[in-house]
Parts: sequence; C-alpha cells; structure tokens
Amino acid sequence: MENANHTFQWACGEASRCLFCIDAPCTKGCPTHIDIPRFIRLLRWKDIRGAKQMIKAENCFGAVCGYLCPSEKLCEKDCLRARIDSPIEIAALQRFACNNADYEPAFNAKSRTGKKVAVIGAGPAGITCAMQLTAFGHEVEIFEREKYLAGTISKEIPHFKIPPEVVDRELGELGTERIKVRVGIEVKPELLENETGKRFDAVFLGVGLSQSHKSRLQKKGVKNVYDASMFLNSVKSGSIGPIKGICVIIGGGDTAIDCARTALRLGAKRSVIAYRRSRNEMPAAEAGFIQAAKEGVEFLWQLSPVCTIGQKEVAEIEFVRTELMRSRQGGRRAFKRVSASKFRFPADIVVLALGKGRDAEFTSILNDQRVNAETLQIENTKYFVGGDLINAGETVVEAVADGKKAAISIDRYLNSM
Ligand code: SF4
Repeated sequence: MENANHTFQWACGEASRCLFCIDAPCTKGCPTHIDIPRFIRLLRWKDIRGAKQMIKAENCFGAVCGYLCPSEKLCEKDCLRARIDSPIEIAALQRFACNNADYEPAFNAKSRTGKKVAVIGAGPAGITCAMQLTAFGHEVEIFEREKYLAGTISKEIPHFKIPPEVVDRELGELGTERIKVRVGIEVKPELLENETGKRFDAVFLGVGLSQSHKSRLQKKGVKNVYDASMFLNSVKSGSIGPIKGICVIIGGGDTAIDCARTALRLGAKRSVIAYRRSRNEMPAAEAGFIQAAKEGVEFLWQLSPVCTIGQKEVAEIEFVRTELMRSRQGGRRAFKRVSASKFRFPADIVVLALGKGRDAEFTSILNDQRVNAETLQIENTKYFVGGDLINAGETVVEAVADGKKAAISIDRYLNSM
C-alpha cells in the first residue's frame, strides 16, 4: 500500500541511490523486463511522465504490479545497492511514477493485417496479449465470462492491498477501446471448434483458475464455511459484512494472508491461520506474512484440519497435529499426521484458502496436447495459452509476461500463414 512518506523528494532521493548498473540484475529479475535503471534515471531527473511511459511500455499493468509484485523475490532480489546498504525500493518507485503522472498509451499500430485473433479471458495475460496484437495490426476480440476486466485483481484482491482507484485508472489507461471486448460471455472449448473458433486465425487462451479445490470441510447445510475466493469476492461486493468471533483460515499462501487480514478489518475478534507445515515451508510472501503478524493475525503451525463441528453453523474445527518429513529432491517437506493428536479449536467462520484449479474442460485440452514452453503454442494448432492456465496461479507480472510472449508468437504464426 502507498506510504504517505513516499513524496516527490523521497522518490528523487531514492532514485539517486541507484548505481545505474550495466547489465542490471533488477531488469533481469523482472519477468516483463522493464528497463529499471532507465526509469529510475528519469525519476532522478524529475521526469515522472517519462518514467511512467517507460514502465508501461513494457508492462501495461505497471501500477498494479507496483502494488502486488513480490519484488523482494524478483527485481529487488539481486539489487547491487544491497552490497552497500539496502536494495533500491524499486516497487515503491514504480508505484510512485505510475500514480503521479498522466499517461497516453503510445499506439504505433502497423498497417492492418486482416488477421483476426480471439482472446479468451480478460485477465492480465489476455489483456496484455490483446493490446500487443492490436499494436501489431491484427484485429482482436476479447471474450470474458465475468462482467468486468482484470480477473482476480478486480474480483478478489482486497482494497487494502491495492486501492480501487489505482485499478480503475490502470484499466482506463489500457486503451481497450481500440479492441472489441465482450464481457459476460463464456466461451467453452467446444465452441472454439465450432462457429467462434472458425472466425479466427488464432486463439489465445488466457482463462484463469476458476475451480476452488474441494474440501470435506465444506458440508451441506453448515453455514459460515467459505472458500477463499468466494469469501474475498463477497467481501468486495459487500455481501459479507462485519464479522464477530473467531475466523480460522486454512492454508499458507498469499490468499490465506489476504483472507486473515480482511477478517480483522471486518471486526473478527481473532483471525487465525492454520497451516499444515511450518513457517519455513509457508509459500506466502515474507512481506505479507510480516504485515499480517503486525496487524494481529495469529498463526498455528503443523496442523491439518479433520472436520468442522456444528449442526447449522460451524462452531469448532477439529485438527490433528503433523510431523514434517525429510524433503525429497529439494522440494517442500512432506508431512504425516501424528496419531492420537486430535483436538478442537473454536471457529465462528472458516475460510479455506486451498488454491484453485483449472476448469475441467480446459484441463482436458491441455492434457491431450503439448504446449511449447518457448512459444506458448499448443503444438500444431492455432491455439496459444498463458497466465494461470499454465503457471497455476502465479503472479500478475508473470501473467503479463506470458501475454507478451504469446503475442509475439501469435504474430510470428500469423505472418507465416
Ligand atoms: Fe539500480 Fe539496483 Fe538495478 Fe543496480 S540493480 S540498476 S542499483 S535498482
């Protein structure tokens, strides 16, 4: 979230700490390859507009990524300034530039090629791919099953992580009026083989993950047990209001952290994350974990949920303790349940942050065929894939990178026809 101390003077001061490295590791660490030393140099010379132009030329979700990127694992990870004192606050500088300058998307479209591309899904991968293809001169139509753009950014990411006005402004700056965007239309795989698919010379599948993993903790008729996606979406849309009592969140990823912090803001007496492994194995970003702990989120380690207790509403959750095993081939450590270690924990709301999977129909398309990792093309077809469909719910910036990569491959494919 934006820091009130991040003023113009702060930005110039922070920018002047940059070493403007040749072959900069920060740029290599950015999946969208923003030229970071160049945008920082522009900021240093007070050209905020130029800095924003440079960021958005490589990443049309530059502002969103400034808020949501795990920068400590990406651009800031190998910053050479850390050898002197501390890494440059690249994500904060990116937010500053994007929030404090106007922007007109540079649109040097080549002459029209007459080729048509369908983009299925208006998340960051789909939108990025569509914008890039339009700039290459192809005609693009986006199909989105929801009534809004930007997928989980609009639907689930809490406002305390990214202000809604930042998302609105970024969407307004995309220039999507140059392409046909059809919202509220679900394109099923079979439709691609029929009338919809036949109209297009190439198709990009950028559908997100929509199927929350099922859990036996969700029992028919027992209220107040939500999957994380539904919980966050309902809070954003206002259909879940203030919370009383104890909220227990099951999971260890960024979404679990988002749910726990959301529950505190809704008034939960206690917000408790239960994870089946230890802190060392928890996949959530360090910054989010620290912030959640500061806000009062509690953590229970090495607990596996067994069942919820309660007739009409959940009242308790039964856990069993786990024991961690040695990791195999450097992966995360497996765990086993400890016998005779069951106990109950009070819970007025249970949120299951267990991850999401692909739609079964799209899974079958991908399972049957090979996706070329370099081109993102489903081999020997006119279909290309990217975003959550192939990287199982990674970051926004990786989805943007996939969208760019797929657009270049699609352009090459269309030009070879
Ligand atoms: Fe600046 Fe750090 Fe990038 Fe070097 S690695 S150019 S110091 S931000």
